[in-house]
Amino acid sequence: MPAADVVIVGGGVTGASTAFQLAQRNAGKILLVERATVGAGPTAKSIGIIRLHYSYEPLIRLAVRSLEMFTRFEELTGGTADFTRAGFLLLATHAQLPAVQENVALQRRLGVRTSILSPEEIARLDPRMSLDDVGGAAFEPDSGYADGYATTTSFAAAARRAGAEIWEATRAERIVTENGRVTGLDTTRGPITSARVLVAAGPWTPHLMSTAGINVPIQASRQQVVQLEPPADFGRLEVVIEDMTQGFYGASEAGVRGGYASVYDITPDWQPVLGHVDAVEGLSVAAGFSGHGFKLGPALGECLAALILGEQPEIDISSFALSRFASGRLIRGKHIQGILG
Ligand SMILES: Cc1cc2nc3c(=O)[nH]c(=O)nc-3n(C[C@H](O)[C@H](O)[C@H](O)COP(=O)(O)OP(=O)(O)OC[C@H]3O[C@@H](n4cnc5c(N)ncnc54)[C@H](O)[C@@H]3O)c2cc1C
Repeated sequence: MPAADVVIVGGGVTGASTAFQLAQRNAGKILLVERATVGAGPTAKSIGIIRLHYSYEPLIRLAVRSLEMFTRFEELTGGTADFTRAGFLLLATHAQLPAVQENVALQRRLGVRTSILSPEEIARLDPRMSLDDVGGAAFEPDSGYADGYATTTSFAAAARRAGAEIWEATRAERIVTENGRVTGLDTTRGPITSARVLVAAGPWTPHLMSTAGINVPIQASRQQVVQLEPPADFGRLEVVIEDMTQGFYGASEAGVRGGYASVYDITPDWQPVLGHVDAVEGLSVAAGFSGHGFKLGPALGECLAALILGEQPEIDISSFALSRFASGRLIRGKHIQGILG
């Protein structure tokens, strides 16, 4: 029976980034199993917006660290993330603006380059915007967007080069446990033994975790992406926009592809579930990103690799533990829209 030091279930950005970090650190035999192909899940459908604007400090730290990694991605992985530094604009109504100002102050204390723009300053950035209901905006010049599929396949290729094995077209069917600890996985390619398993299976995570008797409160929610053809004389939308006044976000696409649907994996507080599972030794989870997990992927690979190896991660992610739901310590961001954190 094949054995591995760490098995990761799920080849989205989270699993691939963690496999890369573990392989780089010579953590023994690292095996990633993916039921389809690497990057084929919701990661490939991500709009890929990378912003630093959060109201919860650990998320800001994760986003800042990830942005650093996106900006030197080629040096890090030898591949591309297709990162474009377009700037990020968060439009707010007059009523929403005080919370945004508070977040911007918090971010600046953490070293983020960000500022509040008045409607006049926003118009100078792009005079085509209709700003009737807009009281102001948070602006981040260093943020932008990247490609989910490119990022994930680059992480996976770099993980392979560093010695990790990746089994595509392989579905994990059951987590095997013995006396309260994980001993392996049953997969469609046969059983694997391992004392450390990370489940990073996006919306499919609750189903697999239930085979070990663990309840992970994640709901799958269908999301529709629309790709609009601008009028011929419109030009490009240079900046990434998240519009709280009308409830949409978007970035420029090259060409028109139509539209598609994908899935968010939403938790009760719209924050991910990260780290060891108390009830089963050796079992960890990283899922429930609630529509905002792509940008966190690079930094989370580092944090999860450290946790799996029994170390303290540089960014404290302990407040995202699964146990928060049972103990009622939910994470409440300042925004009404949970996805903004
Ligand atoms: C439409 C849309 C737009 C988004 N826009 C943004 C954005 O602008 N910015 C941002 O930061 N985030 C965004 N997100 C969220 C982001 O894409 C996700 O949070 C992130 O990609 C999740 O990555 P993941 O690796 O955790 O999971 P996933 O991408 O869901 O990957 C999980 C993988 O596990 C595999 N799998 C599942 N079950 C099994 C099993 N039993 N055995 C083996 N493999 C299994 C699946 O095939 C899949 O490949 C968006 C999401 C969507 C849907």
